[in-house]
Amino acid sequence: MNRIAIAALAGAAFLAPALASRAQTNYAAVQIKPTDLGRHTWMLEGNGGNITVVEGADAVIMVDTQFAPLHDKIKAAIAELAHKPIRYVVDTHLHGDHTGGNQAFWMDGATLVGQDLLKKSMAEGTTNALSGAKTPPAPAAALPTVTYAERTTLAVKGRRVELIHVPRAHTRGDTIVWIPDADVLATGDIVSVGGRYPNIDVGDGGGIEGMIAGVDACLKHIDAKTKVVPGHGPLMDREAVKTYRQVLVDARDAVKALKAQGMSEDQVVAAKPLAAIQTRVGATDQASVNFARLIYKSL
Ligand SMILES: [Zn+2]
Repeated sequence: MNRIAIAALAGAAFLAPALASRAQTNYAAVQIKPTDLGRHTWMLEGNGGNITVVEGADAVIMVDTQFAPLHDKIKAAIAELAHKPIRYVVDTHLHGDHTGGNQAFWMDGATLVGQDLLKKSMAEGTTNALSGAKTPPAPAAALPTVTYAERTTLAVKGRRVELIHVPRAHTRGDTIVWIPDADVLATGDIVSVGGRYPNIDVGDGGGIEGMIAGVDACLKHIDAKTKVVPGHGPLMDREAVKTYRQVLVDARDAVKALKAQGMSEDQVVAAKPLAAIQTRVGATDQASVNFARLIYKSL
């Protein structure tokens, strides 16, 4: 069976969420903005998670895909930068703002790559720990066909990227992508900034301790010159990642201290343990409530 036939079988399941999200976001107005990271490597911003593009002599490796309706724009932006086919699409984690374009890029001929547990969670569907909302199983055509457990390497002619699994961090199946020749690290949502706390998908096995350990795993690859592509927000450097790490540590310590006193989740939330951190981050009151709950649940 060819890719078009397989996609047709998945059609209804695939189109329903795409149409539902299209009603909320005006994807037609989204512009894809590239940032040149040197050595034929780019960060793309649009709507959803940041994308990283690595151009080899014969093909392109792409990290994350944003939302399905943006596929044509993202494809056009990459074609303008690199006149090569996209051979690999790496999923840093399962969320739809990073994997929404999976099926469309697969239809174009790309091989989808992700960590073993990412594939398992996408295939089974997940439940949001805060809202109870269910994300249904993804269609087969949107699932990685190449998976790995701890660490793997992808190569196109003249370029090599390393995929490193970080356990139980933003999700249970996170990947960070190290691009040594360009000195670029793509972190997925283990690092996520811009007037917000990171999300932690506790329902999928993510947790605050894993997030901090994940940032430490990132910092092993980051020196003073490394360009860091976060899951959300502007390009970062080592100092910005360290500042972000301190937010996670302070938030964990604040919630942990109250939980250790025997407080319930609601009592901890009522005590506003993140008030000072909220000001540093520039987040909303509701975001502080949500983040405190996620930390509490995961400790
Ligand atoms: Zn995410």
